[in-house]
Amino acid sequence: MRFDVLTIFPEALTGFLSVGVLGQAIEKGLISAHLHDLRDFTDDPHRVVDDRPYGGGPGMLLKVEPIVRGIEAIKAGTIESCFLHEQCEDNNQQANSASKCKTILLSSQGRLFSQNDALKWGKLDQLLLVCGRYEGVDERVVQFVDDEVSIGDYVLTGGEVAAAVIIEATARMLPGMVGRFESVTTDSFYEKDHLGPPQYTRPPEFRGLRVPEVLLSGDHARIERFRESRAWEKTMRNRPDLIGLERLPEQSQHLDRVGDDG
Ligand code: SAH
Repeated sequence: MRFDVLTIFPEALTGFLSVGVLGQAIEKGLISAHLHDLRDFTDDPHRVVDDRPYGGGPGMLLKVEPIVRGIEAIKAGTIESCFLHEQCEDNNQQANSASKCKTILLSSQGRLFSQNDALKWGKLDQLLLVCGRYEGVDERVVQFVDDEVSIGDYVLTGGEVAAAVIIEATARMLPGMVGRFESVTTDSFYEKDHLGPPQYTRPPEFRGLRVPEVLLSGDHARIERFRESRAWEKTMRNRPDLIGLERLPEQSQHLDRVGDDG
C-alpha cells in the first residue's frame, strides 16, 4: 500500500516513518510513503502557500490552489520530486497503477477517525493525506477530497501528527505488518466496540501487586474467560460510553484498579 502526505513540513514525518514496524515495512516494500512539500505546487517565486482569511480574523489559511494542484498531481502520478528521495524511483508508476485511492483532509472539524476506517482504508492501494496548518485550509479544499477527518476533539497546530496516526493505524491492519495477526484481532476496537483485556508480564509480583493467578495456571479456557470478563470491566471503567453506559464516579474507578487478582 502506498501513503502520500501533502504538507508544508515533510521533514516532520521522516523520523517517524523510519523506525519500528513502519520503518521495517517500508524497507521490506510492504508499504511506501511519499512526503510532498506543498510549496512545490505553488506558482509564484516566493512559493507562498498561505493568505489572510476573507472577512477578517486572526491568523492565516492555506490557499486552495497549491493544495488542489498537489492532490491532482499526486493522483495523476505527475510529481517530479518527493521528500523521501530514495523511494521516488517508483513514485509515478505506483501512483498510476493505484486503482483504489482515497484523499483525506486532516481537520479539527472533520468526523472522528476510528479503527473501522483504518480497517477499510487498509484495503486501498493508496491513501493521500492532506495536512492543514495555521488556522486551517480554505474551505473549498473540502470539495476536492473524499473525506474530512479529525483524530480527536482537540486542536493541533498542524495535520502532520494526525497523518502519522492514520498511517500507523491503517498500516497496522495490513497482512504481514505485525508479527502475528492475532495480536491485532484481540486488540481494543478491532471489529468490536469494547477494549482489549489488560495484560501482564514478568515479574509475577511487583511491590505487592501480584499478577492474577489464573494467568499463570496454563488453563487456556479459564484464561480466555478471565480475559473476556476483564476486557468488559475495563471498558465499563474507562470507556462506558462505548457500551452506552454513564461514567462511574472518579472514586470507584480508583477502587476498581486495586485488587486486580484472578
Ligand atoms: N481553525 C481551526 C483549527 C486549525 S488547526 C478550527 O477552528 O477548528 C490547523 C490544522 O491542524 C488543521 O487544518 C488540521 O489540518 C490540523 N488539525 C488540528 N487539529 C486536528 C485534529 N484534531 N485532527 C486532525 N487534524 C487536526
